[in-house]
Amino acid sequence: MAAPEKKLVRSKSGLRMVTVDDDETSPFLLMEPPWVPDNECDCCQSCRGKFDFLRRRKHHCRRCGRCFCDNCCKTKVALPRMCFIDPVRHCATCADTTKKENEFFDKHVKTLVNGGQFMLSGKDQSDIESQFLCKLSSDHRFLNFEAESDKYESIQVSNLESLQIMANSRDDEGMSLTFYSLK
Ligand SMILES: [Zn+2]
Ligand SMILES: [Zn+2]
Repeated sequence: MAAPEKKLVRSKSGLRMVTVDDDETSPFLLMEPPWVPDNECDCCQSCRGKFDFLRRRKHHCRRCGRCFCDNCCKTKVALPRMCFIDPVRHCATCADTTKKENEFFDKHVKTLVNGGQFMLSGKDQSDIESQFLCKLSSDHRFLNFEAESDKYESIQVSNLESLQIMANSRDDEGMSLTFYSLK
């Protein structure tokens, strides 16, 4: 499968590299939040320090869009889920979330792209759960069945409710991790 065509766009938060075709966006994509308007915040939403023009200026967290002082919003973290090219400003709470997510992507999503065991089940209680060896496509949009590709069609990741990664003996023992709930 060819890599989707991408283009560079500039938003108020920074430069982003996005797919040209909306249908080809990653299911993990996060939309940029609306920014809390300047006139609605006169103090930092974390330390409550009052803003002024010189000593305490306003900054927006790129992930949640809330308004903070420099001190409460100074961490710059890569935010690939919003397609930013450079690390962007985060508040403390969002910095934590993004760092955990980045770890998750670095470790587990890479494993999935190489192929992993999935327990798949349907929406109804009566649907049977089965274990399959699947591979996540490099653009993260499809889950392909490795061994039984003739029997099953690829699953569109954006249609999944939730996903768990089974324990991997080579890696972490007995780990069962809840994948992002995509709906
Ligand atoms: Zn503050
Ligand atoms: Zn935030």
